[in-house]
Amino acid sequence: MQMSGGHVQIANGIAIIVKLTNSCNFSCTYCGVSGFPIRKKGLTIETMSIEQIIQLFNVVCNSKKVSSVDFIWHGGEPLLMGPNFFKKVIKNQNKIFKDVNIKVENSIQTNGALINEKWIKFFKQNKFGLGISIDGDKELQSKQKKALSGNSYNQTIKGIKSLQKNLIPFGTLAVLTNDSIQIGAKNLFNFFINKGIKTFDFLPQEPILDINGNQLSENIYPTKEYVIFANELFDIWYELDDPKIHILLFEEIIRSLLNKGSKICQIGHGICANTIFTFYPNNTITQCDKFPRASNTIKKEEISNITKINSIDEVCLSSTYSKVLNQQIKTLKWCGGCKYYNNCKGGCTFDRYLSSKYNLNNSQCSIFKIFEHIQNRIKENINR
Ligand code: SF4
Ligand code: SF4
Repeated sequence: MQMSGGHVQIANGIAIIVKLTNSCNFSCTYCGVSGFPIRKKGLTIETMSIEQIIQLFNVVCNSKKVSSVDFIWHGGEPLLMGPNFFKKVIKNQNKIFKDVNIKVENSIQTNGALINEKWIKFFKQNKFGLGISIDGDKELQSKQKKALSGNSYNQTIKGIKSLQKNLIPFGTLAVLTNDSIQIGAKNLFNFFINKGIKTFDFLPQEPILDINGNQLSENIYPTKEYVIFANELFDIWYELDDPKIHILLFEEIIRSLLNKGSKICQIGHGICANTIFTFYPNNTITQCDKFPRASNTIKKEEISNITKINSIDEVCLSSTYSKVLNQQIKTLKWCGGCKYYNNCKGGCTFDRYLSSKYNLNNSQCSIFKIFEHIQNRIKENINR
């Protein structure tokens, strides 16, 4: 990829995070979209219409560059839109992409609480990558994810059991907070295994910043404790050596150490400005949703507006895109001299942005320490 600012065109393979609604049936302590603290301040509910989705499909279809697109259906809670809405989405997607040479995939990130027979039928009929957000056992989940009515743990576990009963594949994603780190890697790992969950991943809690960049959540990110947790978790997973158990971050780090590239945006890509976009109910298109969430303002990072473009390619022609791209390239300097640069290529762009914002030194890079640990463990194993 050409790394001089302002000339990087849209990638062949793109992903669009579609923020269907900012409404949610849960209010999570760490959420910057619809939970605390924004909900506390008074949230205006915004929801996308099917016409906006059709416009998005047409704009992607008109691309001269894109050969594959992954629509990541997101929220708030995307299942609040209901299975009938999603049936219309798929019907229009099939129609619009029918004669176009663009490979289309769909995935959805949900808390799983609303999964019922209708959703099961929909997931059986339509191939969707399914990610269920669950942080851990009942005590932890109930503390961090408060259901607006009833108990969040019971509701999510009911959804998971229903998927398992119907043999619908899914993975889970847990947000790691100070509380989860206290529970420990072994206990959390065992929790997921005991629930029959074979594909799971963890994400450190992101800080929520106000418009001036002041941190609203308690934790400085990423914490030293996160690295200790991740490395312990790797050891447990690696020693168990069960090919049926997948932890995506570790698998992708190993792939990149073997120079086989990586399928996740956080490893081996350097910049994501031309690859990952977010589409909001107010028609704006931004870079990855981590950025607007962190600055608590969508408009600031708006790189385009769906009503003003004919093709998604035009997103990469806007002056805001050039600005965003240049910022992303600039933050790569933070990685200067790193021995894992050729594998990692700068990790997650947002993490680099935060690290430079907090004036951290790249010796404090959390992903570096995880790379190093994994490489050492594998070397030890080979030399045994
Ligand atoms: S900011 Fe990070 S998480 Fe978001 S798309 Fe870029 S690399 Fe991925
Ligand atoms: S400093 Fe960290 S983010 Fe940068 S290349 Fe090295 S491991 Fe990756």
